[in-house]
Amino acid sequence: MKFTNSPELTQEEIDYFRTKLEDMQKQIFEESGETVQEMKNRNKEFPDPSDRAHLEAESITTLRIRDRERKLLKKIGEALKRIENGEYNVCEECEELIRKERLDARPVTTLCINCKEKEEQMEKTQHT
Ligand SMILES: [Zn+2]
Repeated sequence: MKFTNSPELTQEEIDYFRTKLEDMQKQIFEESGETVQEMKNRNKEFPDPSDRAHLEAESITTLRIRDRERKLLKKIGEALKRIENGEYNVCEECEELIRKERLDARPVTTLCINCKEKEEQMEKTQHT
């Protein structure tokens, strides 16, 4: 995708980002579907209790991944809503337009690079 120089999104670019977000959504659904299926299969294959312990440890990892997926799905949903409202590329903090290259790399971002850096710096200060 070649972006125009204008900071505003063209209709074509809006469509591009919408498709990109919808593809991400689809991919997560497909992957999580597989995960559930894999868990079911393994339960049948390993009735041995020691294997079951191993299996449970693995399920926790799977659940963590699924938790991350859920969060990402929520972010994708919010991003799609912002596209509908025509504010997809508007920074939540300063209301400047987010660069298209940044949106392309991180389609669910709600902050421009300046605000993101500020936020990261704040987080660093809080942790030290
Ligand atoms: Zn900003």
